[in-house]
Amino acid sequence: MSYLIKGETADWELVIGLEVHAQVISNSKLFSGSATSFGADPNSHVSLVDAAMPGMLPVINAHCIDQAIKTGLGLNAVINRHSVFERKNYFYADLPQGYQISQFLHPIVGEGMLEIQLKDGSIREIAIERLHMEQDAGKSIHDKDPRRTYIDLNRAGVCLMEIVSHPAMYTPEEAAAYVRKIRSIVRYLETCDGNMEEGSMRADVNVSVRKFGETGLRTRTETKNVNSVRFMMQAIEFEAQRHVEVWESGGEVKQETRLFDPDTGETRPMRSKEEAHDYRYFPDPDLLPVELSEAQIDAIRSAMPELPDEKKRRFMAELGLSAYDADVLVAERETANYFEIVAKGRDAKVAANWVISNLFGALNAADKDISNSPVSAQNLGKLLGLMANETISGRIAKEVFEIMFETGSDPEKIVQEKGLKQITDSGAIEAAVDQAIADNPDQADEVRQGNGKAIGWFVGQVMQKTQGKANPQAVNKMLRDKLST
Ligand code: MN
Repeated sequence: MSYLIKGETADWELVIGLEVHAQVISNSKLFSGSATSFGADPNSHVSLVDAAMPGMLPVINAHCIDQAIKTGLGLNAVINRHSVFERKNYFYADLPQGYQISQFLHPIVGEGMLEIQLKDGSIREIAIERLHMEQDAGKSIHDKDPRRTYIDLNRAGVCLMEIVSHPAMYTPEEAAAYVRKIRSIVRYLETCDGNMEEGSMRADVNVSVRKFGETGLRTRTETKNVNSVRFMMQAIEFEAQRHVEVWESGGEVKQETRLFDPDTGETRPMRSKEEAHDYRYFPDPDLLPVELSEAQIDAIRSAMPELPDEKKRRFMAELGLSAYDADVLVAERETANYFEIVAKGRDAKVAANWVISNLFGALNAADKDISNSPVSAQNLGKLLGLMANETISGRIAKEVFEIMFETGSDPEKIVQEKGLKQITDSGAIEAAVDQAIADNPDQADEVRQGNGKAIGWFVGQVMQKTQGKANPQAVNKMLRDKLST
């Protein structure tokens, strides 16, 4: 299971811990009333609190607290009734306060657990250490002017949830599955939009290596702000290889913060890593501790939607889907909802197959996603209904689906207008079968002499004569009756 790196002197294994920063969905910031919307003009969403004017006082946004509780429950984690906001002191040009308000000793969410499924179908539980709330910093813009750096404070003070895992992942694939799973859960919960390109979810990647069989951890490095799953996997692989080379050449890996460069696929040092005590954390004197009541937590718990793991188990147990199909269908809430409408009262495996193969295939080819699918779930369901009651054959259904995808029309209307209804009238089928036999006496003799495969060829002939509208089972049966000797 582990990820072996062959060194000169030994085999090495990889240890990964992740800190995922997820921006909370909320109209206003964690401690001010400024808007949080993405893409606004620089410095247009900045209040006096965000700009750290002297004497301004932060006020906690209660909605952000609820969002953190909800996320903690979604991560199967302990919700701490008592938590404290602390000042994490450091200087940075885009941090006008001179400190970040974060949580340290008493985070709002404690130990949790996330289940991931790997490509080989195996399941692993990844232990989560904590989730704490904190403010985001502003943004320094270095590429607008050769000599100046510009600062945009729109993001300053926006609420982040930092989800910290234990160093409990051992392959890049596990790390990828973990981040995707967090993304899926926060999107189900609507606590974060999970949009990695816009930076509303990003990961700090802690990597270390150790000789195979060694216990304990060697020095780690932290690669900051990686904003795609693919980049994260590249950064992990690069760091793992680099660590092995450093240790094997007799050197020592330095604890440091590094940056990933997507153009080269490499990481480079940014600054030597601080220890927690370097930040001189202390409780923010402007903010009272957060005291939660059990009733408040229960109210949020009872309003939780069904989450992907639960949904997946239900799809497997009640609808008989495979683990793979269920996993694909529950990854996004929109897909799961769509599928449930299609499958309602119908054969769920057939529905899963149509959504995963036919619909996803067409959407991919057209560069669309399920939220703007030209084929509605109701219409796809109707199409499956037409197949199930033998109004149309599977072959015709594919044709109808293509028309639906182009026009968005109702399948019943398409079948009606184009005259695609399956021929079930046995007289009409018989005429087509007789015609096919009369037209092809040699092939008919072959069948009579026991060549069973030629029957398939005859079915094809009859289907062609009827433009695919004959019921293939009926055709097959009639041919066998007529050609048996
Ligand atoms: Mn952080």
